Amino acid sequence: MTVTHDVQLSWTAPAVLREADPQLADLLSAEAGRRAESLQLLAGENVTSPAVLAALSGPLVDKYAEGYPGHRHHSGCALADAAELLAVDRAKRLFAAEHANVQPRSGTSAMLAAYAALLRPGDLVLAMSLEHGGHLSCGSRANFSGRWFDFIGYGVREQDHLLDYDQVRELARLHRPKAIVAGGISYPRHLDWAAFREIADEVDAYLIADTAQTTGLVAAGLAPSPVPYADVTVAATHKLLRGPRGGLLLCSEQLAGRVDRAVFPFSQGGAAMNEVAGKAVAFAQAGTPEFGAYLQRAVDGARSLAGALDGAGAPPLTGGTDTQLVTADVGALGLTGLEAERRCAAAGLMLGKCALPYDPAPPAETSGIRLGTGAVAAQGMAVEGMAELGELIGRLLRGGPGAEIGARVRELAAALGEN
Ligand SMILES: *Cc1c(COP(=O)(O)O)cnc(C)c1O
Repeated sequence: MTVTHDVQLSWTAPAVLREADPQLADLLSAEAGRRAESLQLLAGENVTSPAVLAALSGPLVDKYAEGYPGHRHHSGCALADAAELLAVDRAKRLFAAEHANVQPRSGTSAMLAAYAALLRPGDLVLAMSLEHGGHLSCGSRANFSGRWFDFIGYGVREQDHLLDYDQVRELARLHRPKAIVAGGISYPRHLDWAAFREIADEVDAYLIADTAQTTGLVAAGLAPSPVPYADVTVAATHKLLRGPRGGLLLCSEQLAGRVDRAVFPFSQGGAAMNEVAGKAVAFAQAGTPEFGAYLQRAVDGARSLAGALDGAGAPPLTGGTDTQLVTADVGALGLTGLEAERRCAAAGLMLGKCALPYDPAPPAETSGIRLGTGAVAAQGMAVEGMAELGELIGRLLRGGPGAEIGARVRELAAALGEN
């Protein structure tokens, strides 16, 4: 199976949509234009594989198939069953997992199901603190997680921003949580899954791996897999995997029943079967050498980009990255993350402000930026191109000419469109 990297971000509204809803058709055409003229560096975004898009708009979009293959609550599910079994088998093979549930509608709903499978309301959970890069499903008071469970947060060290495993162990011994969650949204280094497992075993806690940010890297063997260590692994199919927007759960055969029941019927009704079909395609593509080469380029590019930012006076946290993700401190340049995000967006470089661990700036402004190379690499950008992006961002942060840099960004974006 081939992976198409010559992705066209240009898009024309089909006649049926233009006729039915010209207002929305115009809006989508304008969005396609915005996307094609700028470079998407938001860490969670990617360009969905064209083959996945085709599966998403296929006939399973209409199919109701509550339950699991062989045990549906609706008739006419034989082919939907076959599609889901394909997705499940491919996910199991891709991640070397005993069991896979491909139905979660998002990373967050997969997290909800992981908690539901292992915990009871009020249980204590040790997870990366939100201030240090934990996802909102790791105890935000505005999220189900923070309302239904008691969260204790671990973090990174102030001197080098690396995870403090000694602190994780200390907190685990002190609080004896029912579960430990490993993973976050802005941590650019590989995690030591064996160390997390050892700590969890010492206090008899479950280990939940939140790998939404790095799912593709794990699939391609470019990041260590949590699957042999974690009780439940949570993954996202729309980030590095270039699949449909959605979640994935991996676990042992022993926990399969609990995980499946935690998705349906506990937290979802019928799965989106077109998304399940799209996931099957994405899992097949992620197993190819081309996919591995694409992500290797994303990681190499992120490293070069981080080096360029460092040279411009915006040091990347932890000194660099092991992944597609770069988190950099713009405070040293006298900027807030908000101002940096605004300047880059004005020049067509879409990245996000990011609260840093120990950030002195208020959360609405922050001292950091966070970006990822997954989408530009999917569009075929070479490592040198990503290094140049780092230089362009560095110049913008140092007050360089926005109009001139914006023109260069449009040139780079147009070149990608012609790949
Ligand atoms: C993206 C992400 C999630 C949630 O995924 P959604 O699909 O947006 O709900 C959870 N955890 C981490 C670490 C993520 O990066």
